[in-house]
Amino acid sequence: MELGALLGVFLAVRFGQHLVERFLAYLNKKTYENENNYKYAGRVLNIAIDDLKKTLSYSRDKYQFASIQSWISIGITLGFIALGGLGWVEQAAIGLAESFGFSEAGGSGAIVTGLLFLGLISLLSGIVSLPFDLYFTFVLEEKHGFNRQTIKGFISDRIKGIIIGSILGGLILSLILWIMQSFATWWLIAWIAVFGFSLLTVWLYPTVLAPIFNKFEPLQEGPLKDQIYSLAKKVSFQADGISIMDASTRSSHGNAYFTGVFGKKKIVLFDTLVKAMNVEEIVAVLAHELGHFKLNHIRWSLVRSFFMTGVMFYLMSLCLPINELYTAFDMQAGTFYGALVVFSLWFSPISFLLQPITNLISRRNEFAADAFALKNVENGRRLGDALLKLRENSHVMPISHPAFSAVYHSHPPLLERLKAMGYIDKS
Ligand SMILES: [Zn+2]
Repeated sequence: MELGALLGVFLAVRFGQHLVERFLAYLNKKTYENENNYKYAGRVLNIAIDDLKKTLSYSRDKYQFASIQSWISIGITLGFIALGGLGWVEQAAIGLAESFGFSEAGGSGAIVTGLLFLGLISLLSGIVSLPFDLYFTFVLEEKHGFNRQTIKGFISDRIKGIIIGSILGGLILSLILWIMQSFATWWLIAWIAVFGFSLLTVWLYPTVLAPIFNKFEPLQEGPLKDQIYSLAKKVSFQADGISIMDASTRSSHGNAYFTGVFGKKKIVLFDTLVKAMNVEEIVAVLAHELGHFKLNHIRWSLVRSFFMTGVMFYLMSLCLPINELYTAFDMQAGTFYGALVVFSLWFSPISFLLQPITNLISRRNEFAADAFALKNVENGRRLGDALLKLRENSHVMPISHPAFSAVYHSHPPLLERLKAMGYIDKS
């Protein structure tokens, strides 16, 4: 078998990305494993040496796990693609569609074929990742005391996820495929449709989707509720109720969020946050989250994703007629579902390159939200206390290599945040 040039380029680029990712993880491990580094962080942040050792062992286990998982996954994925696996799955989808009485050429048959093709691909990738997910939750997280989930809960989450994913994914994909084959300027219409669909999901999330996975209870009367309402009033945030979510049934990591697209917003606090902190600290964390909202970070991220979606669909429309892009992966030329797959394959390395830019924006926003919180809570030190408790509870290493941090971290390293807040000395 002869590898096509374009396939060779893709495999090399994707493998190159993998090597860069592993190298960054290695650099990061070297940084936090350095005794001087973690002891310095421990001293400045007042973290007990026992706690640091636990954190270090958790980080090492996660590193080893990620390393094994990523080598196996990239091996299977690239091997599958190199051997023409996509072409094979496409033929299976065409055969399956025909057995249901749909011909692949045009009309609804092309949509059914496309749905089956994309469905089979996500089924295969789900099968590859399942053993790793199980190991991560029930061996690694369990060992370090983070897992709160039972096997039964895990399976029921998976089944619900597959059902909801198939319904929502099936709907949006059918819509995109239909738009693609019906309109000459499909990229423009698909852009608007996808964005509308994502707004709809955001709107449906709190009332329809979230309750399928979690239980919500209204926050009891008391000092916490009073203080949250007075904070909301102070920053003129229109709160429409506060709920507590049972995040602790899955994991002991977690925080808070708001729901609602327009008008009044519901505040959702994770029970893990409420249990771990005192009233002032919870209010400080919430003030930070309100900062994101009041400083329009959430609105701007919607605007950014709106334009990103447009650029992606436009680029896809330029790629659609290039036959080599499909045949390189052993697929039929010029199909709409093929364009989606080819584009998402090439998009992985592109989005990897964009990550540092996205993270840069996000980190600037974190500093701004911290500053907003300091201005609006009575005792600014409570935010620092809360951030330290959050770190302690999730056992995250407080230090990381700058290059790793630039690519992967949407939040600034804890040490930098606390310095910027004036919680610790800027030395
Ligand atoms: Zn934040």
